[in-house]
Amino acid sequence: MPELPEIEVLKRDLEKEVVGRRIKDANVRPGTNAMKIVGRHGRRKEFQELLEGAKIEHIRRIGRRLLIELDNERTMVVALGDSGLLLKTSATEEIAPNTHIVIEWTIGGHLRLVDPDKKADVYVCPTEDIPTLKELQSDAIDPLDAQNPLTWQHFSSLLEDRAEEMKKLMMDENFILGLGDIYSDEILWTAALRYDRKSNELSSQDVRRLYRALVEILMEAIKARGTTWGPEGFRDLHGDMGTFQHEIKVFERDGEPCRRCRNPLEKAKVAGSFTYFCPQCQV
Ligand SMILES: [Zn+2]
Repeated sequence: MPELPEIEVLKRDLEKEVVGRRIKDANVRPGTNAMKIVGRHGRRKEFQELLEGAKIEHIRRIGRRLLIELDNERTMVVALGDSGLLLKTSATEEIAPNTHIVIEWTIGGHLRLVDPDKKADVYVCPTEDIPTLKELQSDAIDPLDAQNPLTWQHFSSLLEDRAEEMKKLMMDENFILGLGDIYSDEILWTAALRYDRKSNELSSQDVRRLYRALVEILMEAIKARGTTWGPEGFRDLHGDMGTFQHEIKVFERDGEPCRRCRNPLEKAKVAGSFTYFCPQCQV
């Protein structure tokens, strides 16, 4: 699943590549179950008509959702789900399997939404409704929110309020947005904190280390253009893989030596999934 850094990479790609372009034609492709993705619009045609002729003015990200603001006072909201991809292609490039939406620009070229699992959710709504949409409201921390940067003092008080084990908390979308299995393990390893430490029992030194690790890992992941885990993993707007998977220190490396202390890494079960950690240097 694309996590916060991958969505941020896509947001920046869209800012560079599609802002200023005008939509000639929006096509929800028949016969691909694409109506599952644009299901909030009763009819294909309704979705298409809301987009046609509009110019892309601005790209925003709220949590894991991308907001493509148009000059017709509407916004296209895109949640990619587990396997959704947004791809910029030429008009002549062969349409890949599981392509559900094709947006054609007046100057040529396409923006395509590809999603094998069909769990993406795409809709167009009046821009003025955005602040009132329930799925776009969240009190959770967005560590990449430039408008409202997280301070370590605020982070510290939020951790103290929640008396929970760290791995569970880092994966909790109501606490912090879009970290997932990989980044939460990497952040805890970098901060040298065990997965089962209680958030309200961290020393201020622990919190500072955790805060630094959080910011550092997310920034490095964006710089590396995200993590592409497995053949079906994330692709950027150009269809290229990220490279952060080459910098992974603990995730799925159980039995291999820790990069910090050389002791073998282990895995433990947490909430129906696994966490990977160093039993020696994460305390
Ligand atoms: Zn270690």
